[in-house]
Amino acid sequence: MAQGSIGGPRVLLRRLREIMAEPRDTQTRLNEVVRAIAANMVAEVCSLYLPRPGNILELFATEGLNPQAVHQTHLNIGEGLVGLIAETAEYIALPDAQSHPKFAYRPETGEEIYKSLMGVPMLRGGRVIGVLVVQNRTMRQYEEEEIETMQTVAMVLAEVVASGVLSDAKASAPGLPLSGPRTHRAHGTGLAEGIVLGKAVLHDPRVDMSQIIAMDPEAERQRLDEALAALQNSVDEMLSGEGIARAGEHREVLEAYQMFARDRGWTTRLHEAVASGLTAAAAAERVQMENRARMQRVSDPYLRERLLDLDDLANRLLRHLTGQMHVPSADQLPDKAVIIARSMGPAELLDYDRGKLAGIVLEEGSHTAHVVIVARALEIPMVGGASDVLDWVEANDTILVDGDSGAVYIHPPEDVVAAYEERIAIRARKQAQFDALVGKPAVTKDAVRIYLNINSGLVVDLPHLADTGADGIGLFRTELQFLISSAFPRFEAQRAVYARVLDTAGARPVLFRTLDVGADKKLPYLRQRGEENPALGWRGTRLAMERPSLLRYQLRALLAAGAGRELNLMFPMISEVSEFLQARELVELELVRITRLGRQPPIKLRIGAMLEVPSLVWQLDRLLPVVDFISVGSNDLLQFFFAYDRSNPKLAGRYDQLSLAALRLLRQIVRECDTHGVPAGVCGELASRPIEAMALIGLGFRNLSMSPMSIGPVKLMLMHLHVGAVTELLDEALVSSRDDVRGRLLEFAGRHEIPI
Ligand code: PEP
Ligand code: MG
Repeated sequence: MAQGSIGGPRVLLRRLREIMAEPRDTQTRLNEVVRAIAANMVAEVCSLYLPRPGNILELFATEGLNPQAVHQTHLNIGEGLVGLIAETAEYIALPDAQSHPKFAYRPETGEEIYKSLMGVPMLRGGRVIGVLVVQNRTMRQYEEEEIETMQTVAMVLAEVVASGVLSDAKASAPGLPLSGPRTHRAHGTGLAEGIVLGKAVLHDPRVDMSQIIAMDPEAERQRLDEALAALQNSVDEMLSGEGIARAGEHREVLEAYQMFARDRGWTTRLHEAVASGLTAAAAAERVQMENRARMQRVSDPYLRERLLDLDDLANRLLRHLTGQMHVPSADQLPDKAVIIARSMGPAELLDYDRGKLAGIVLEEGSHTAHVVIVARALEIPMVGGASDVLDWVEANDTILVDGDSGAVYIHPPEDVVAAYEERIAIRARKQAQFDALVGKPAVTKDAVRIYLNINSGLVVDLPHLADTGADGIGLFRTELQFLISSAFPRFEAQRAVYARVLDTAGARPVLFRTLDVGADKKLPYLRQRGEENPALGWRGTRLAMERPSLLRYQLRALLAAGAGRELNLMFPMISEVSEFLQARELVELELVRITRLGRQPPIKLRIGAMLEVPSLVWQLDRLLPVVDFISVGSNDLLQFFFAYDRSNPKLAGRYDQLSLAALRLLRQIVRECDTHGVPAGVCGELASRPIEAMALIGLGFRNLSMSPMSIGPVKLMLMHLHVGAVTELLDEALVSSRDDVRGRLLEFAGRHEIPI
């Protein structure tokens, strides 16, 4: 007998809305909900299972099973058919459920008389937050439409549960998912340091409760069609845009988007969801959640990438449908806004108002994500890899983000807030101590002037120059502008950035490093073959020499920005002197062009090399006569020196950078540079930590470039330092065979009360 649902899903959704609107306690509401579903689905049984702490599902309400079993029957995830649905996030429809190998009989429920079973997961944010089941005495074959109806109802219930509408009575027992504001602690990875207590802002568009059930289904179908057409157009437009005229990975990504936007399977699922009574926006969200649930279970990286693309597209569709086309403006943002997103590109972060932006939490995201570069530049605490945070957080929730440890608290308890407030206050006190040094020159106790510069790479971090009182920019990583763009920055865009940097720096020197891409810095629009060892591969100046037009284009922009001023350029990842000479030749060619066109050249041009490859140390006698300066990129230099991957967290701290070998290498460099009268600085992370900076000064370096946050601590250290004393210590340590230089330096600092 074909039973079908009575009056279709819309009647049921209307009834659910009525139940939610009536003043009832939670249990009564849930009882009415399951009763209405059973009646509508022509089922003898309807049961609702919700999770309890410890991966357990509990029967929360039932129509048809023994009422005594409510809150008594529990199943583990993966146990029984209900547990299986929770585990797989997929529906089950069986005419003869008891013959399924997973069927788990629970005598207290009295369910032995029911033959058929259909159950669907309640999904939110790609996670199962409950299971909804109907059962019949007969061996009923559930129709596709009926399954669709149940999925729609399950989505609505999932939203209801998450919205807290059901919060009172029984539900307020501790740990129940139905309770009101609850503390949740998510674990992630600290990606940008700092601590903030702020208010959550959801980056991805989300459909609000009042928009779930369609009032006019035909109008919703039309809205969906219009939004799909608009989405397809925008993707087609992106593909035909001149910015990506060149073939490349970026184009492939967009083509995949185009394919999905036209994908029949996707659009059919969207239409079916609208036909079941949802608004177009809710339909898009439901299909997106099913997709996310699939994504959780896919381990194949290629397939995951494709599902991620589809998720992005679903977000775009949702933006069309909910009208949330843009990120909130400054007046729409709360103070201390903490942005929560699944993933995010760097440009998207820059869309938020700087004055209000105070923290970022991503479900995905790792150290190499480009958005991390921007977060660090803005000095905004950031946590990535907080995998389930979106399931717990609502807009405007109080949220505490610890970018140092990776902890995130939603509705943090008072004792946690108090502990963090103390840490925030200590940081503020230290900061005040560093701020007091801003106007003072970096001079040691024995009157040696040390030049402290900042590493920079984006227009947004230029204010650090003034904030820190640095002497200049010792490393401007030009590739950052390229990394955060979706297409190659044009000449004018490049020139404008460089000019802005020079304007801001004024009389302070800036060392521009030419494009250093490859290895972990991949441009989405630059086709690069997969490499087994990207750190040793097609990167830095090697890549630039193979694509000389790219480098010339950049040099042209740099020289244009430096017209009539002093300009310092340096080339990264030089392994042989000939590579430096070839790169410098390109500068000569550009200078010839400037003269031919009658344009103004820089009044002074200095060209240097970064020392990042150990082989160059044994070519210094040939290199130094042809360079104006040397900048030691200690991150790469020591990576290659010790043969350890600098981005592999397992190796972090494995080799002491203050070991005899490293210090002897650095000493050799600084001595040879001194002999040739060529200025040498250090611009890797080594210079950013006070103890290491102290060693570098002891070795003879007088020019250090570091992350802006390190200027204060390093300056405080050197203002307490006698260079003569530390030099003596190192002179002695480097000829000894004992390899405990760090220990000796620490002891020295302690003895002389040098803050490190
Ligand atoms: C370095 O290698 O030390 C350096 C400063 O360059 P980057 O960290 O950008 O590779
Ligand atoms: Mg480097």
